[in-house]
Amino acid sequence: MENNYLCPKCRSYLNIGTKIVLSVHVKNNQKGLLLFEKELGDYKIKKNDLINYTDGEMVGFFCPICHENLVSEINPNLAKIIMVDENNNEYDILFSKISGEQATYKLDKGKIEAYGSDKSKYLDFFK
Ligand SMILES: [Zn+2]
Repeated sequence: MENNYLCPKCRSYLNIGTKIVLSVHVKNNQKGLLLFEKELGDYKIKKNDLINYTDGEMVGFFCPICHENLVSEINPNLAKIIMVDENNNEYDILFSKISGEQATYKLDKGKIEAYGSDKSKYLDFFK
């Protein structure tokens, strides 16, 4: 079995195939769906071409099912979802909401796995 991703609020499944589906709101008030790769550290995304944002802009991430704001309690620049592995272990997955920033964290009972070229930026917030 593969890893699954859940909304922290309603615990609905957010992944389909190799993708994670999240709802986004961008600054110019456009809303849409974004497809992320399930593999941590892979920053390829798919989106509607009419959803536009520029590097450095904060993107709002929401659960596509319950519409909960996925902002993390650790830092407003980070969003949080839950990963469940094949052994039913749960991990918090945090990732940067800033467009162009590549920073993703997997939290496992105090241990942190960090991914992406900007991963050092938020490491201090986990201490
Ligand atoms: Zn939800």
